[in-house]
Parts: sequence; C-alpha cells; structure tokens
Amino acid sequence: MPTVHNLPQPFKIAEVIEESYRVKTFVLEGSFEAEPGQFVMLWLPGVDEKPFSLVNSNPVTLTVARVGPFTSELHRRKPGDTLWLRGPFGNGFTLEGEHLLLIGGGYGVAPLLFLARKAREGGRRVSVVIGASTARDVILAEDFLALGCHVIIATEDGSRGFRGKAPEVAEELLRDINPDALYACGPGGMLEAVRMMAGRRGLPVQLSYESYIRCAIGVCGSCQRSGWLVCRDGPVRRA
Ligand SMILES: Cc1cc2nc3c(=O)[nH]c(=O)nc-3n(C[C@H](O)[C@H](O)[C@H](O)COP(=O)(O)OP(=O)(O)OC[C@H]3O[C@@H](n4cnc5c(N)ncnc54)[C@H](O)[C@@H]3O)c2cc1C
Repeated sequence: MPTVHNLPQPFKIAEVIEESYRVKTFVLEGSFEAEPGQFVMLWLPGVDEKPFSLVNSNPVTLTVARVGPFTSELHRRKPGDTLWLRGPFGNGFTLEGEHLLLIGGGYGVAPLLFLARKAREGGRRVSVVIGASTARDVILAEDFLALGCHVIIATEDGSRGFRGKAPEVAEELLRDINPDALYACGPGGMLEAVRMMAGRRGLPVQLSYESYIRCAIGVCGSCQRSGWLVCRDGPVRRA
C-alpha cells in the first residue's frame, strides 16, 4: 500500500495547462506513491480543503474543473505557487482483463487517464469513451491518444464525435469493442447507467463515486452513502 501523508505536504506548481474554458491541469513538482483512482485532499490555506483525483502520481498531477469558490481560487494559482496535499486516500481501481473499456463524464475522465497509463504500461488494450456536454467540454482526448488508447468521443449536443450520453454511446459500440471489464467515473446518473449496462452484459465493473468529503480518513462520516464511506470504502467500488 502507498505511504499515506496524513499532514499536508507542500508541492510547487511546475506547469498549468488549460484543457478547456473551465478545466485546468496542475502539474506539480514532486511525486506521491499512489494507485489510479485514489484521491488527495488539496488545501489552500485560508480558503478550504477539497478532494481531487490523481491524474498522475509522478509528477503529481490534478485536473480541476472550475465549479465553485474553491476551484475558482485554485484556477488563479500560477507556476511557482505552493499547493498543500495530503493523501493519497481511498481505494484505487484494480486492473483486470486484457481489454478495458473506460467511460468518463466531465472531469470524471481525469482518474481514468491515470488508469489508462497503468494499463498500457502493462500491455493491456484500452478503449475510452469521453463524455461531455459539448465539443468545448471535451478534455484529455489527446492524452489518451498519446498512450495508444482507442478514443471515442460522445457529446450530448453532437458537436463532436457521437451524439448522446457516454453510457448510451458505449452500449451501442459494446459489441465492436468487446471489452473484458468496464470502469467509469462521472456524475451519479452516468455511473448508474454504466452499472446497469454491466449487469445486462455480464461484465465486471468498477465505478468511482463522489460525495462530500471532509476528513478523508473515515472518521467524520460526511461522505456516507447508504452505509459505506466514500473516502475509506471507496471512491472506487465494484457494482
Ligand atoms: C473522490 C473525489 C474526487 C474528485 N476529483 C475531482 C477531480 O479530479 N477534478 C475535479 O474538478 N473535481 C473533483 N472532485 C470534485 C470536487 O472536489 C468538488 O467539485 C469541489 O467541491 C469543488 O469545490 P468548489 O468550492 O469549487 O465548489 P462547490 O461550491 O463545493 O460546488 C459547486 C457546485 O458543485 C456541487 N457539488 C460539489 N461537490 C459535489 C459533490 N461531491 N456531489 C454533488 N454535488 C457537488 C455543489 O452543490 C455546487 O452546486 C472530486 C470529488 C471527490 C469526492
């Protein structure tokens, strides 16, 4: 198991990449030992502390959508500024099968890029459906392509790739892709659709859930979902 840093550690920002009009990738100086699917708690002193999935552990990399006060503040940070991270926390994804189908919605594709990198390093085939509302919201497609993944884009308005939600498009193409296992990260409705698809097709599936995480170490209970704690028993669960 990776070493867990329970106290925030300082990391300087090495690079900031604009992925879209509201998503930025922060490449930090330094590394963490971590598995794909695990998350860190990012502290901005005087602002707050929030959970983010690792997109890479060496160098530590986070991809963050600007959705509210904390992420807006983070988006103002520049190379040379310091971010404080504790973790990594939670269960990561387990690699299984020879051909993985990853399904990501919105910033949910971020941890799937880490998973794809691990799977490709091990010689596995990876197909990925990147779901987004419009062409402007598609992120990380080139990064998956650079890893040698088969990339399928699904936009709800049809402005790029297939028209439709990521799970619908994945199910339409499932016979051609013929994966051994499914992995998904994204909004709750998307995860439920992937869970049901996996059940219909008899495929193993691992889903990464979100909740309101405060302590990240299974003590405060704020991330509870029907009797399990997202920070301690998740965020990745088999359906
Ligand atoms: C395990 C985990 C991994 C995550 N990884 C990433 C990541 O890689 N990249 C990324 O951009 N974000 C990620 N998030 C989400 C991120 O932590 C939240 O969006 C965070 O609350 C943003 O803070 P904010 O102050 O900017 O916005 P907030 O004011 O907290 O939220 C803005 C809006 O989003 C809604 N919202 C926020 N969090 C949740 C939630 N958990 N469930 C439902 N609605 C919510 C709020 O109701 C509000 O409408 C992750 C969350 C978890 C639990």
